[in-house]
This record gives sequence, C-alpha cells and structure tokens, in this order.
Amino acid sequence: MNRTAVKQIIILCLSLVLVCCKNSSGKVECLCPHATICLQPYEGFSKEEVEKILPILQEKLEENVYGMWNVKINDPIEFPKHSYISSMNRYKGISLLNNLKTNSKDTVIIGLTHSDLCADVHNKKNYGIVGYSLVNRNVSIVSDKRLKDKRMMIWKPIIHEFMHSFFGKPHCPNDDPKCFLKDAKGKGNFEIQDYLCNSCRM
Ligand SMILES: [Zn+2]
Ligand SMILES: [Zn+2]
Repeated sequence: MNRTAVKQIIILCLSLVLVCCKNSSGKVECLCPHATICLQPYEGFSKEEVEKILPILQEKLEENVYGMWNVKINDPIEFPKHSYISSMNRYKGISLLNNLKTNSKDTVIIGLTHSDLCADVHNKKNYGIVGYSLVNRNVSIVSDKRLKDKRMMIWKPIIHEFMHSFFGKPHCPNDDPKCFLKDAKGKGNFEIQDYLCNSCRM
C-alpha cells in the first residue's frame, strides 16, 4: 500500500471518530449537526405531492447544509381551530406554529400548505407570507400559494425556514439574491435562488 493510500485511510478513520461516538447507553450518536425533519402537510396537501419534492429537498440539504438530515413525511392534519381569517382567506402563521410542537431538539417540524399564510410583520397586520418560523424552536411553516407556477420550488423556502428554526440563522447578511436565506421582503425571487452563500452556509 502506498503512502497516499495509508494517509487517506487514516483521514477516513479520524473523520469517522469525529462524526460518531457512543453515548452512555451504548447508542451510536452523531456529533455533527443532525435532525429528523418531519414534513407535515395540512389538509389539501397530499402525501403524494410531498413525496415529489422529497428527492430534491434531500439532495439540496446535503449539498448546502453540513450535517445528517433524515426527512420524513407525516400524514396530513387539519388546520387548528381559529387560525383562519375568512375575510382575507388566509391562515394565521402564529396559530399554526403554536400548534406544531416538538419536544425533541433533534426533530424539526415543517408544516406545508397550498393555502395563503399571514403574519404581523413589516409593520403590517396579517401580511401575506411564504414561510414563518419560531427561531431555534424547530418549527416552521411554508406555503406554496405565492410561488404560483413555481410551486415545485417549495424546497427553497423550506431550506430558508429550516435555517431559521433549527440553526437560528438570520437573513442573508450579504443580501445575495441567489442565497436561500435572502429576506424576500414580500417578493421572493425563487427562480434565481441557487445556494446558501458563504456567510449563510453551515
Ligand atoms: Zn446568504
Ligand atoms: Zn426568513
């Protein structure tokens, strides 16, 4: 075996030691950032539709966010009572988030809907939004309503919200239009978003 091959094996072994260790109960735990991401569709968003975005979401997460991400799809649930504003045909984001509780620091729940969402942001009440998160609380919601014909790009705002709710990341400090974490400020350019920039990637 030549020296380069030996070196490569040593590096591989070292990286395995860094990534995994056994906890007191003997269970192997990952030391790198990791989470189970539960995609939680609301009524009207079928499990089959979520399955269609799963491969690209998994691929882009692996490409852009260092860590181990296991994405699962939950059965659709009903909207919580009193979350609907009939005069605006929108659901109140905060009511949905407060209903999506997770007790584990390793589990993130991301609610998905085709309906319009709103929040009290940008000094406006019930302002129409694409996504909303409780920062560092592992819960987010995303709607594809405002994506119109770009609905298949819903994985982009999903990554945006995941970075807020799991990592507590703020909006892109470079205001890079290609960065998934750019603040949409009411008009998200989803077609040009392509990566997490150097300041936003983990
Ligand atoms: Zn950025
Ligand atoms: Zn945001």
